[in-house]
Amino acid sequence: MRLLPLILATTTFTLLAEDHAAPAAKAKPKAAAQAHAPTPAGHGPAPAADAPDSPAAALAELGAGNARFVAGKRVRTLNPGQDAALRAALVHGQAPFAVVITCSDSRVPDALLFDQEAGRLFTIREAGNAPDLQGIASAEYAAEHLGSKVIVIMGHSSCGAVKAVREANGKALPGNLWALQAGMAGLLESTPQDPNEDAKAHLGRLEEANARRQAQAMLDRSALLRDLAAAEKLWVVPALYHLASGKVQFFKPLAVVPAPPAHH
Ligand SMILES: [Zn+2]
Repeated sequence: MRLLPLILATTTFTLLAEDHAAPAAKAKPKAAAQAHAPTPAGHGPAPAADAPDSPAAALAELGAGNARFVAGKRVRTLNPGQDAALRAALVHGQAPFAVVITCSDSRVPDALLFDQEAGRLFTIREAGNAPDLQGIASAEYAAEHLGSKVIVIMGHSSCGAVKAVREANGKALPGNLWALQAGMAGLLESTPQDPNEDAKAHLGRLEEANARRQAQAMLDRSALLRDLAAAEKLWVVPALYHLASGKVQFFKPLAVVPAPPAHH
């Protein structure tokens, strides 16, 4: 029985080696171990040949990965032979193509729902996906030093943090939760409850508004990210993850222009 994982791993690499030689395989998303497989000449880990090289390509890969997750057809995070090879390939560096800023909610497993293995996503998680200065600094580090091409700020349906802020309605929450409220300051005022909508519908609008506002607030606070975005090297994209369907709804990348934007 102990031999089974070894056999599986060997089989995986054999298949991958054959796959690599077939040009037709290029269109398919490649599994991690293949992307980082040692070169035949033994010159160490090859660069991830399928790493997106533009903001548009990065966003497309996140969308494709999410479609695989929704369809129950994950590829990159389902390779049983990848763990050891992937660790070895990543020891000397990382080049995550995307930054994901999302909620700490345990039902939002970013790597799985985008079907991206280790080394691909640089993740910042805080309840309410409201990055503080250190969260923004983390995003700057990924974009500036690691070359990430897109930052997705992703809220989600049934967000307890947004719900708590909504229900507190300005009254201080216990403990240090005031900081969470401060991180969403202005949200309730920006998106008041419509007389015709119930609490659930209002919460849904708040979740979307929060993702959009946090994305804009991060750009407003970061000259470094603004410069990268203005140079078309980076997209900042608000998004919303729907718990029931597993789908990520992406909104338009934020426009960055030299003059202050006319609208949000
Ligand atoms: Zn949440």
